[in-house]
Amino acid sequence: MKRKETLLNTMGIKLNHSIDEIGDEHVGTSHNTPLREDAFEMPDELKIELIEKHFKDIMSVLGLDLTDDSLKGTPKRVAKMFINEVFSGLDPKNKPKVKLFENKYKYNEMLVEKDITFFSHCEHHFVPIYGRAHVAYVSNGNVIGLSKINRIVQYFSSRPQVQERLTMQIGHALTEILGTEDVAVIMDAHHMCVSSRGVKDVNSNTVTSFYGGKFEKDEQSRIEFLQYVSLGQIANK
Ligand SMILES: [Zn+2]
Repeated sequence: MKRKETLLNTMGIKLNHSIDEIGDEHVGTSHNTPLREDAFEMPDELKIELIEKHFKDIMSVLGLDLTDDSLKGTPKRVAKMFINEVFSGLDPKNKPKVKLFENKYKYNEMLVEKDITFFSHCEHHFVPIYGRAHVAYVSNGNVIGLSKINRIVQYFSSRPQVQERLTMQIGHALTEILGTEDVAVIMDAHHMCVSSRGVKDVNSNTVTSFYGGKFEKDEQSRIEFLQYVSLGQIANK
């Protein structure tokens, strides 16, 4: 999956599929989230108001009675949830502020933070993708507070996503923040658009990876990382 996307990027191909062409294939077209230039000109309050209105229309088209006590608050709830929670990572103002610390204890081995739970949404169906992220880096002299790694994973997850792009966005962000290429990310996720609809496969997971620097060049580093996250069998394939 990663290879396909990288190839497309290298060739500078801008895919312009119709919705039907993309269908259930979950093909991503770039590692930048496709946003319009004016994406953040509208204040959040107005976005919430508009989404509320449009979601009300969708519910109404479905034939739901919006005067019902249980339903009447739903459009507003959905609108607030989109802007303030599940899609808050679209807006750069919500990007976590990260402070680095000097690596005083001269720890030069890889640091692995594994089993970071994340929740995202598939951009083709707007249903949840959830799973675990495993992140590793080798310090170049600076270290990052561990909870900041969780926050970075959460930030990029809080967008409509495809898993390949999400993995690359986290990898690239950490590379930039930490000032080292020696970054690895693995994401192991369950896609509800695969389990709850369509092919209805409840057992399959999707694994994507990002390897930079020594994780890309040195097989031993990669194997070590995969063994820490108990995916060692993949490394030995
Ligand atoms: Zn989907």
